[in-house]
Amino acid sequence: MTTGWTWHERFGWYDTGRFAGLIPPGGWGEPDLHMENGETKRRLASLVAASGLLDSLVSIPARVATDEEILRVHTPDYLAYLVEQDESPRGGFADIGIGRTTFSHGDLEIAKMAVGGVIEAGLAVARSEVSNAYALTRPPGHHALPHTGLGFCVFANIPLAIHAIRHATDIERIAVVDWDVHHGNGTQDIFWNDPDVLTISIHQDRLFPQFGLVEERGGEGALGSCLNIPLPAGSGRGAYERAFTDVVLPALETYAPQMVIVASGFDSGNFDPNGRMCLGSIDYRWMTEQVMSYVTANCDDRLLVVHEGGYSAWYVPFCGLAVIEAMSGTESQANDPFAAGLADRVAAQLMPHQLEFVEHAATSLAFVRQP
Ligand code: ZN
Repeated sequence: MTTGWTWHERFGWYDTGRFAGLIPPGGWGEPDLHMENGETKRRLASLVAASGLLDSLVSIPARVATDEEILRVHTPDYLAYLVEQDESPRGGFADIGIGRTTFSHGDLEIAKMAVGGVIEAGLAVARSEVSNAYALTRPPGHHALPHTGLGFCVFANIPLAIHAIRHATDIERIAVVDWDVHHGNGTQDIFWNDPDVLTISIHQDRLFPQFGLVEERGGEGALGSCLNIPLPAGSGRGAYERAFTDVVLPALETYAPQMVIVASGFDSGNFDPNGRMCLGSIDYRWMTEQVMSYVTANCDDRLLVVHEGGYSAWYVPFCGLAVIEAMSGTESQANDPFAAGLADRVAAQLMPHQLEFVEHAATSLAFVRQP
């Protein structure tokens, strides 16, 4: 088992500027860090190195994606708009008209490097050069749409990697499992009419960007290739375990993809300031093991995990470490110091109203199609 690892120090330098969390500076919001800043991911990279886990990983260098690669998903107008914003000495915005997805002068190259990093990690998995790979890239991607960035995301990293994989290998049928606390709206939109990509999103119900309903099941010619599992705020281990065993894994069994990509956001973690879920590192480890079991039995191990959101600078690193340990089959020296405080909590139990959400989502299984 070899696990690829993609990280570059410059991902930590991508500068979203001074914000009061989610609010632009000005008025009574004292400027501080932007919610999406480099700390969570930079500290995960530090922990991977400090724990010794890095020694067992295979480095897959990131590179700057070409415009040709980016234009497989995004519109020429959007790319031209980003170039214009990037040339401003103060940088600019990637989300047209919303203004929360900021970047500084010269950062466009880092955003393109995030795309290139996910592509290279994906190709290494698709070509079986490694068993699986973890792409710790920044900025994230699962909200980005063809014509605009959204929700801190500039480019649609995973969809762009899927296009690159299909372009360069024989793999055509891919499933995306998104456990970020927010709905993976961009990935869903981009493959809405594509029956060869199954998008599964487990997210907090009615959180940003307020879509991701169970009834969204795919467009014309692709009904059943989109599966949403909204869960109520406060869901923890019990609800996520049930969602996996009753919906995610049966969907994968039926759909039978050749490769699985996980959009791994840790804002569904217990301490996240941007989500209201209760997962711990032990739960991310469990979910990774479930996907690992599936890909080992059915996909020649082919699993790519791509880092998305997650905003607790002190907890995200332990969640990420648990995922990478599970992927590589190794245990590092670094124990999660928060684990004892999260053990045996009632918030981890499955509540009846959470089960109702899972059962409702399971109605979409009837639409999932075999190859
Ligand atoms: Zn998120």
